[in-house]
Amino acid sequence: MKIVQVKCPSCGTPIRMKNKEAIFLCDNCGMMHTRNHGIERIDYEIAEFSSSVANERMYMPFWRLYCDFSIRSKNVEGGSFFRLSQWIKGDKNSGAFFVFIPAFDTSLENFKLLSIHLTLNPPHYRTTMNFGGVTRMPVLMTKEEARELADFVVVTIEAEKPGVLQYLDYSLSVKDERIIYLPFTKTSSGPVLAV
Ligand SMILES: [Zn+2]
Repeated sequence: MKIVQVKCPSCGTPIRMKNKEAIFLCDNCGMMHTRNHGIERIDYEIAEFSSSVANERMYMPFWRLYCDFSIRSKNVEGGSFFRLSQWIKGDKNSGAFFVFIPAFDTSLENFKLLSIHLTLNPPHYRTTMNFGGVTRMPVLMTKEEARELADFVVVTIEAEKPGVLQYLDYSLSVKDERIIYLPFTKTSSGPVLAV
């Protein structure tokens, strides 16, 4: 296992990073940063566990991208877009929404399930200041990789209902991105969201 050690740019505390984690998180002052293109601060949130959770806990990191989109032209049979329409207000052809991208190592199938579910149903949670001793999964995806996947998630969501979407030309621009640590519990059927 390769260990990289850097100093926190905020407080100077040494930070050890295991393997290929894409971010550095300071245990002392809580600053998160990357060094892909020089030192860059990353915003993040830690969601609180719901109090009723009894099973083993863990935190899974997601990139949450705030996206603007606008539709340039479309040709749709059977009404409107399956999902994009819910983000469009009134007669406009544009809107904004959050896209959630799993930042941890997972299968393509699970990646699709989680990104679609969370993008369509953004979780409501209270934030907390620290992990409270709960294990966090490493962030293995860079911000740039997450941005490139935003389109894939939107297209996958629209493709869920085959035959309806005939043609869609749109632009998607990412306005903001941050890491959200979401609480999960381990169950016999896999991890379950616990907000
Ligand atoms: Zn620090």
